[in-house]
Amino acid sequence: RAKQAGKNGVRLYHPAMGEAAAERVDLERDLRQALDGQQFTLHYQGQFDGATGALQGFEALVRWQHATQGVLLPSKFIGMAEETQLILPLGVWVLQEACRQAAAWHAVAPRLTISVNVSAVQFEHPGFSAAVREALDRSGLPAGCLILELTESAVLRDPTAAAAQLTHLKRLGVRVALDDFGTGQSSLSLLHSLPIDELKIDRSFVQSANRVLLEVMLHLAQGLNLRVVAEGVETADQQALLRMLGCDSLQGYLLARPASAEDVRSLLIP
Ligand code: C2E
Ligand code: MG
Ligand code: MG
Ligand code: MG
Repeated sequence: RAKQAGKNGVRLYHPAMGEAAAERVDLERDLRQALDGQQFTLHYQGQFDGATGALQGFEALVRWQHATQGVLLPSKFIGMAEETQLILPLGVWVLQEACRQAAAWHAVAPRLTISVNVSAVQFEHPGFSAAVREALDRSGLPAGCLILELTESAVLRDPTAAAAQLTHLKRLGVRVALDDFGTGQSSLSLLHSLPIDELKIDRSFVQSANRVLLEVMLHLAQGLNLRVVAEGVETADQQALLRMLGCDSLQGYLLARPASAEDVRSLLIP
């Protein structure tokens, strides 16, 4: 089969497969090799206190240093990784690496948090909370410094199972954020019933600078006792508005771009 042939570096596609399908087969093969070949790295984007501007923590963002195509962003490969379940070993690596790195930074910046994106496929896997516990144990990172970012769709696929999984995670002492908040379908009662700690307002709302919508979202979060992070802050006007509305934490190109671990280190230890 074409997949088999691909492993040996030979492309034996049926012409009817088409270019797009052939590219997918290549991507899947490369993804398997990348996991073994340590071609993944994490970049880190700072999150800053809305009121004081102080650095609070980082979000870990995976990058793939592809052998021939250069650096690939998650939008290029996370979907494929989910379809093939390769997101499971990749997700474990991301968790371990992010926790290890954050624990190392704690020597100079003790209370920094690390936020890790978790795919629905990972979250639904029965071994997920054990993988989180192992990453904490191995790294020595305090559980309260780890924030797991889930999307609304991950939680909504099976709300009952999600509630059970979240309960396991909360017992470990980690924090949970709802990512890209406002773009999905979550109901107010769901938000109220799930043990989440943080909402990340999607950058589409931040960038539209729709004051009424942002105000409603912030009031909602404050009413539910949730911390609010605004993502995608690119302008001083957006920053000023979010600050005025009492947003807890800001993240975006205006404040800091995603950076390599080395660059973060030189930022922490000037
Ligand atoms: P996300 O979790 O919502 O992450 C924020 C994305 O917005 C990142 O893109 C970040 O680089 C980008 N960003 C940050 N500030 C700004 C800004 O001011 N303006 C604009 N236009 N963009 C900004 P990135 O790194 O390409 O990641 C895209 C998505 O891929 C993430 O969205 C997340 O859903 C997913 N992802 C990233 N890393 C991982 C991972 O380790 N595991 C999983 N499962 N998904 C990941
Ligand atoms: Mg995120
Ligand atoms: Mg987000
Ligand atoms: Mg987003």
